[in-house]
Amino acid sequence: MATATAPAPTKPDVQIKYTKCLIDGQWVDAASGKTFETINPATGDVIAQVAEGDAADVDKAVKAARKAFESGPWPKMSGAERGRLMYKLADLIEKNKEELARLETLDNGKPLRDSLNADLPLTVACYRYYAGWADKNHGKTIPVNGPYFCYTRHEPVGVVGQIIPWNFPMLMQAWKWGPALAMGNTVILKPAEQTPLTALYVAQLALEAGYPQGVVNVIPGMGPGPGGAIARHMDIDKVAFTGSTEVGHLIMEAAAKSNLKRVSLELGGKSPNIVFADADMDAAIQGAYFALFFNQGQCCCAGSRLFVEEKIHGQFVEKLIGIAKSRRVGDPFDMKTHQGPQVSREQFDRVMGYIDKGNKEGAKCVTGGGRVGDRGYFIEPTVFDGVRDDMTIAQEEIFGPVLAVLPFKDTDEVVQRANRSMYGLAAAVWTKDIEKAMRISQSVRAGTVWVNCYDVFDAAAPFGGFKMSGVGRELGEYALQHYTEVKTVTMKV
Ligand code: ADP
Repeated sequence: MATATAPAPTKPDVQIKYTKCLIDGQWVDAASGKTFETINPATGDVIAQVAEGDAADVDKAVKAARKAFESGPWPKMSGAERGRLMYKLADLIEKNKEELARLETLDNGKPLRDSLNADLPLTVACYRYYAGWADKNHGKTIPVNGPYFCYTRHEPVGVVGQIIPWNFPMLMQAWKWGPALAMGNTVILKPAEQTPLTALYVAQLALEAGYPQGVVNVIPGMGPGPGGAIARHMDIDKVAFTGSTEVGHLIMEAAAKSNLKRVSLELGGKSPNIVFADADMDAAIQGAYFALFFNQGQCCCAGSRLFVEEKIHGQFVEKLIGIAKSRRVGDPFDMKTHQGPQVSREQFDRVMGYIDKGNKEGAKCVTGGGRVGDRGYFIEPTVFDGVRDDMTIAQEEIFGPVLAVLPFKDTDEVVQRANRSMYGLAAAVWTKDIEKAMRISQSVRAGTVWVNCYDVFDAAAPFGGFKMSGVGRELGEYALQHYTEVKTVTMKV
């Protein structure tokens, strides 16, 4: 088979140092004393037992975060000093990047070359970007009528709860902590149960950087446990969530039913990637391949609906099959590996279930479709051709290495079909015609549009969803508003 030899994962030499809850600057067991297993997805073996936090632990963390927000050094600190702490955290992450990358690969399964070359530099850049904002997000003076001096203050929202997913654990922590800490909030983070290890390590680095006690707290555990407790807590001022649209509904509902805490959500996607016949063919093929298969297909913005203009459809799919087959699936610690395992047994089963549905509903599996090896959660890079818009694999988020190819005839048609989705996270268009590029980028209902490129991320460029892909934007200046309350002060003069 061209894509892979049965993976023989190495026994990685990674030391596990932090497995408890971080509350008020102390590493502590869960109040219940319970722990859960975090699993190496390349082998199915247990890596470590991690404290399984719950509502009682969240409550303790909220009390610590509230105290840190209201008294203690944090509220007295200037923006410049907060920025300096964040630069220091970025430096410490950079200094420990080899160990953090290995830990991320062990816990998540992503190839070490991706952890090292993508996750780590993006994480460091994100903290540095927000370090720069810490003393620059300030209010205005406003010329109101009458004998008054009116100005606005940008104040932190308060105690914020942040729930993150497993696909880019360290990077998602940076997207959340960056704007929250730069603006002077205090944080309770719940990492995903599949991948708690790097969040705990970075939390230790935050202590070493000198963040005051109680400013950052981390409670690992299952979703409905500490995640649910954050969403409904009466003394958390804001919740930020990245994950499935299904859980996004629960978070918003719990926020609405408790204290109307502010909510920002980054949810699922089924992003259209549109290739016109006039595109640079090699770039478009590489782009379509990368857009879907990067990170084992576990990207919320994956280009999972590949629309290819009918005129070039046959040759395009042929070439795509060629590079999908050459993808090396196997040991994530081998620097030659392109694709590691899916993150968990549950995700593996889910993705295999979608492959089954694709076959049953009449799509044509032109490469892949099976498991790789008999250990760990590896799946062949899979391409379905002849996919119709009404098929399950064209509508639901698969979150795995499964690409659906849909031929199209003209621009009007493809715009309509691209928008026929409950999601609106990202889209891309490949063409040399500026008119087509403009037409697509303006009419596709998505938070990000890439033109002749895909998955280009920068801490300065906002990211988030239209429609059911989310509420609000992360990254860039736009993310600051979720972590800022605006206060208007009017003074008689
Ligand atoms: P996935 O299905 O890809 O694992 P989820 O949306 O279930 O994505 O998980 C994303 C994050 O949300 C994880 O940290 C998970 O523990 C958390 N989570 C899951 N269920 C809930 C819930 N009911 N309330 C709060 N958080 C949850």
